[in-house]
Amino acid sequence: MFMRYLFLFVICCFFNLQSQNSSADLNYYFSNQENTFDESIPTPESIIGHQVGEWHITHDKLVQYMKELARSSDRVTIQNRGLTYEDRPLILLTITSKNNHSNIEKIKENHMALSNSNNITNFNNFPLVVYQGFSIHGNEPSGSNASLLLAYYLAASKSNFIDDLLEKTVILLDPSFNPDGLQRFAYWANTNKNYNLNPDPNDREYNEAWPGGRTNHYWFDMNRDWLPVQLPESRARIKTYNEWLPNILTDHHEMGTNATFFFQPGIPSRTHPLTPILNQELTQKIANFHVEELNEIGSLYYSEESFDDFYYGKGSTFPDINGGIGILFEQASSRGHIQESANGTLTFPFTIKNQFTAAISTLKAGVNLRENLLKYQYNFYKNSREEGLKSKNKGIIFGDSKDRAKTIHLAEILKRHEIDFYNLKKDLTHKGKYYKKDYAFIIPKNQKKLKLINAMFESRTKFRDSLFYDVSAWTLPLAFNLDYDMNIDMNNAGDKNLEFSTNIGGVTKKTNYAYLMEWHEYYTPKVLNEILNNDMIAKVALKRFNIDNKAFDYGTILIPVFNKEIDSTYNFLNKLAKENCITIHGVNTGLADGIDLGSNHFKRISKQKIALLVGDGFSAYDCGEIWHLFDTRYNIKLTKLDVRNFSSANISDYSTIIMPSSKGLNSENSDKMKKWIENGGTLIAYKNSLKWVEKTNLVKYNFKETKRTAKNISFEQKSNYFKSQEIGGAIFEVNIDRTHPINFGYKNKSISIFRNSTLFIEADKDSYNNPIIYSEKPLLSGYISEENLNNLKSTVPLKINKLNKGKIISITDNTNFRAFWYGTNKLLINAIYFSDQF
Ligand SMILES: [Zn+2]
Repeated sequence: MFMRYLFLFVICCFFNLQSQNSSADLNYYFSNQENTFDESIPTPESIIGHQVGEWHITHDKLVQYMKELARSSDRVTIQNRGLTYEDRPLILLTITSKNNHSNIEKIKENHMALSNSNNITNFNNFPLVVYQGFSIHGNEPSGSNASLLLAYYLAASKSNFIDDLLEKTVILLDPSFNPDGLQRFAYWANTNKNYNLNPDPNDREYNEAWPGGRTNHYWFDMNRDWLPVQLPESRARIKTYNEWLPNILTDHHEMGTNATFFFQPGIPSRTHPLTPILNQELTQKIANFHVEELNEIGSLYYSEESFDDFYYGKGSTFPDINGGIGILFEQASSRGHIQESANGTLTFPFTIKNQFTAAISTLKAGVNLRENLLKYQYNFYKNSREEGLKSKNKGIIFGDSKDRAKTIHLAEILKRHEIDFYNLKKDLTHKGKYYKKDYAFIIPKNQKKLKLINAMFESRTKFRDSLFYDVSAWTLPLAFNLDYDMNIDMNNAGDKNLEFSTNIGGVTKKTNYAYLMEWHEYYTPKVLNEILNNDMIAKVALKRFNIDNKAFDYGTILIPVFNKEIDSTYNFLNKLAKENCITIHGVNTGLADGIDLGSNHFKRISKQKIALLVGDGFSAYDCGEIWHLFDTRYNIKLTKLDVRNFSSANISDYSTIIMPSSKGLNSENSDKMKKWIENGGTLIAYKNSLKWVEKTNLVKYNFKETKRTAKNISFEQKSNYFKSQEIGGAIFEVNIDRTHPINFGYKNKSISIFRNSTLFIEADKDSYNNPIIYSEKPLLSGYISEENLNNLKSTVPLKINKLNKGKIISITDNTNFRAFWYGTNKLLINAIYFSDQF
């Protein structure tokens, strides 16, 4: 008997130790806060089946808890704003007093009036709007796990502080900015958790498999998409943002395990010049509240030494150009459940506690600074409108007279940000550029969001600092390769805020002879792929010609009918053309001015079987951008070929293999790749993969080295000195040879291109081998050091080499950057479909 009790006792101790080791109770998390709770509100543990911090929360359990909370608390409502790529709900909690909830639409309306009015003097009756968002990088999980505690605390606490807070504040709680990434990471951390928690950083628990949980389904860094808004998660979020225009938006992240805790302000000299100085002063005032709370729980922290507020596509910077205050939090990551660090053993619960504490200190700051923040927002929009009035009757025009879809995709970004724009009254020529009605739009400067518009459209080449946390340029009309001008008379404007559902496109007439499709429209590759999949013949024109008084440019696609299946061909093409915003011309004759349709200068295009190399050693971002482009825009199947399967895979059927930026292949795989190219394959290699191409003796590039010796650079300055020689991301002008098939579909002699590498390839001595070449003054927007700029001039971003029957197409720049660089996607497509003609 005694033995049995003893045995039970020992077991109990053992489990107690275990649970102390692995998790904490609510008293641990709320140690610094008042903690009397309404017992009718379920704790997280009672729903998810474990204490917060004991396991990594999966997204589905998180949703389950939040729904329960909304069901049981009259302070909380929940809405589903859409779905991720993996069909996970994008939920949002609205948390405020019961009283405010009964009046929420009116509160929202009043809050919006604040940014639209010129005569508000008393801010006392407006609640503050605070948007708190978590774990946009899925493998930075302490934020989302802390959101359970925050939601519970706000719903259940009976403290006077919370009562007061909820009367004066509307909290928009976004518990998981990136549901697909969070789920992927939780799966990793939980399935690799040790029963005996092991803090050894070498344990598999702390070393995720490629590509990790940071990104969303297509491996995008979601925290770069707040401005371009290309991804479903961002679209839902920006919609909420515009519905409420929050005064504070917080963005809870994690950083390296050996760090401590960071809160903004970031590095002062790296704040974007369009951000008002008062914004950073308010950020500093809010920071004082984090200081106080973190001091009390004994947690180390820092600010102003790293991270910045430059790129408006990040969550903590986007509010700064929208009349709010964005705040970044970075917590040292335990990654899994516990890990050794420079600051001793770092437990997952401790990281969660810090995030919860910073969320509470934000709310305390909000209540205290409420009127300052509301007044700041009011003045921000008042100033913006005044600036707009000064620009009188002026606007920004953008468009591409040959590519409507691409133009519409930029206009869609404006719509998502609730920026007004107009169609043209009629076609016009402005400063030498031809703008066509329905293919160009005008944005009036005299509108509320002028500052945001400037942030999207400006080009900037002078900077206070030479270091950037992220890209230094994102000028949208350059990213789309559109014609544009910052100053046009609004008298040219016609209808406002178009709906794009009205299709422009289709087949001009039914014919038994042939159809012609120019190559400029954005979705022509999608149509071509459908045509080839339908086993129809398609040929590309290597020269220009005129037929029926219409000029057809280089790259026009010829689809012969041969007097067969006349109706079904017409119906098939007409449907495709309508769906994709494309005009396809029916012609009854092969006789043209220039090459005739039977000419040998029309070359047959073969069906393509494409593989994209992915996996360890490859840039997941670069891989994901290409996967996303083909899968969601062009509907072209490509095989994601994991490099770990490359040696055993049968690759002989692939016509093209795309090799995004990578460390390269091992020697066995290199031999296999070389043989495949020699047998007729086309390898398209990007950025760092070129180093492997050169090492493998496939191509000799003659990379231009930047020679530099540090002069008057101290040890302290060394790291910044090297960083200033990087190209974090800037936009450059290249001149193109429009007769070369790699450039088919571009109508101008020069285009803009995005570069974030320092690989410079010398131009070939024969000019016809340089279809794309950096211009004499290539910098259009962004930062590049003087040395690098000198090196870049007249080098080439793209090189084509033959190897027996095959080809290697080498590209140093990124043609698919972050899903919003629509303007250079066609270079990659041309490299695939027209490589037989090079
Ligand atoms: Zn992060």
